[in-house]
Order: sequence, then C-alpha cells, then structure tokens
Amino acid sequence: MSGEGSDHTVVIKWSGQEFRLSLPKDATVGDLKKATQAATGVLPERQKLLGLKFKGKPPGDDVALTDMKLKPSTKIMMMGSREEELDKVKEVPKDLPEVVNDFDIEEEEIAIENREEYLAKIERRIKEYKINVLNEPREGKKLLVLDIDYTLFDHRSVAETANELMRPFLHEFLESAYENYDIVIWSATGMKWVEVKMKELGVTSHPNYKICFMLDSLAMISVHTPKYGVIEVKPLGVIWGKYEQWSAKNTIMFDDIRRNFIMNPQTGLRIRAFREAHFNRDKDRELLKLSKYLKHIAALEDFTDLNHRHWERYRPKRKHEHTDSSERQLKESGDT
Ligand SMILES: [Mg+2]
Repeated sequence: MSGEGSDHTVVIKWSGQEFRLSLPKDATVGDLKKATQAATGVLPERQKLLGLKFKGKPPGDDVALTDMKLKPSTKIMMMGSREEELDKVKEVPKDLPEVVNDFDIEEEEIAIENREEYLAKIERRIKEYKINVLNEPREGKKLLVLDIDYTLFDHRSVAETANELMRPFLHEFLESAYENYDIVIWSATGMKWVEVKMKELGVTSHPNYKICFMLDSLAMISVHTPKYGVIEVKPLGVIWGKYEQWSAKNTIMFDDIRRNFIMNPQTGLRIRAFREAHFNRDKDRELLKLSKYLKHIAALEDFTDLNHRHWERYRPKRKHEHTDSSERQLKESGDT
C-alpha cells in the first residue's frame, strides 16, 4: 500500500471465508478487484461482487471507492472461481462424498424443549425481534420455514453466479409449496446475507410465489446441551408467539442440520444437504420429492401426528388411495 494510509477497509466474503482488505484513499473498484485477486486468487474478470452498487448499478472499474460511500469494514460477498477450481469442476470427480456431519441429539431433544430459561429467551425474541413482513400472511395457509445454506443453496462451492449453486427445482418447489403454505426463510447468518442470497437466486422477486418474511441469526437462541455445549438453534416458538394462526399443528421446517430444530423436533424435517453443487446439480431431486410430500400433508388438519423422519415412506390416506393403487399397478405392469 502507498504512504497515504489505508482509508478503506473492505471485507470480502468468499467460499466460506472472510478476507479483510485495506485500500488507499484514492482506490477504485478496479483496485479493489486486484486486491481481491491477491487475497483469493480469483481473476478480476471472474469476480462478481454482490451488493456493490453505484447509482443503482454494478460499478465500473474506474469508480472511486470514496464516491460509493462505503461504510467502514463493509462486507461484500463475492462469487467467482479460481482458474484451478474451474478446471477441477470440469474433471470427473474421483469420489462423491456425501457425509453429513450432524450429531445425534435424540435423547436430549425433549429435555431441552421444555427448559424454562429457553422459553424465557423465546419470549424475549417474540417481544424484541422485528420482523419485516414482505408479503402479508394469507388466511388459512400453513407455514413452511426453510433454511438456506445446504438446504436451498450450496454456499461453499465456488461459482460464477448464485444460480449455479442453487438447489435444482428450487423455484418449482417454492411455487408448488406456495399454494398451501406461507413461506418463511430462516438462516443462521445476518439479514444482509439472507437478502443478498435470496435476491441473487431470484426468490424474492419471483412472479409465481411470494416470501412472507425472512429471519436471521438474531431470531435464534443459544441453548446448552450437556453433551455438546452451547449451540445456536431456531425455535419456531418465536414465529408462533408472533402469529397465533401458526403452531406445531400446521408448521413444517426444513433444515439440513437437525440440531437447529432441537426446540421443536417433531416439526422439523432434516433435508439431505445439498453440497458439491457442480457434481450433484444433475442428480439432486430432493426438492421435487419434498414438493409431493408437502402437497400430501397439506390436506391434514394436524401435523403433530406425523413423523417427518419417514417422509419418504409417507402415503396419504383414503382420498388418494385410488391414485396410489393405479400407480402401483402401472409400476407392476411395467416390471413384467
Ligand atoms: Mg443449512
């Protein structure tokens, strides 16, 4: 850096890491990209700096950082791949890892669910957490609460655009769910990231479905488990306390980490994590299958009898019996 001192500090978030960059007073967007390249190895022309705007548009390289009025230590999310990474993506993978590191919490679930201090924390969130309603809840709709990272989006792989990391059939899934459910997004990151990601994926501007509201890490609470220490979790009680039409009877939550719903284990469905987007994009059908499940259970008055661990085996009763048996017949005749 020059002797003029470092007058802009920018934090680049990329591939799950943060890089703090110091730039001189007269630095431009082009300089920022060069500094980003030095830190991450991603070429300037491959960098996409999300949320960086000048007069409502992505800034040209000659725009001075001073003119953009960046706040001190502004965080910018970057999409972009190193050349080596791009080469790797083109290679055939040697092994396809699908290890989900979620610890087993079964015995601890119930004990924690009822602990008074946690209920007090939930009360506090209900009072203090401000929800920015994007689209008013609709009468008679059930509630679907969705995690983002590894549920809707692979946030660790590198790519040119957010769309490459989007879980397959995301929009189809949301469109179908929207018919019976109001949709809420809940991510363990800050609201800025939640908004940037949902915007990049086109979720907040889709013509055929609407997002009711989004929650971030501030709506979470920390609980202590004897075995694993302090963990941050997403208690649905925060939403239920604010909206009396929703409860365990008509709510379902998807998350790739089971411990996130330790406060309401019966209401959570642990979705398979979507990772290694480049390898799994063509085969992941999880959201298509879950669309069907949501449709089937939407007819129920009460979700509390369901065991979402067995969602793949779920068969709707009576009403759809006919369809089911004809499907079976078709399958059987196809087998012979
Ligand atoms: Mg997740």
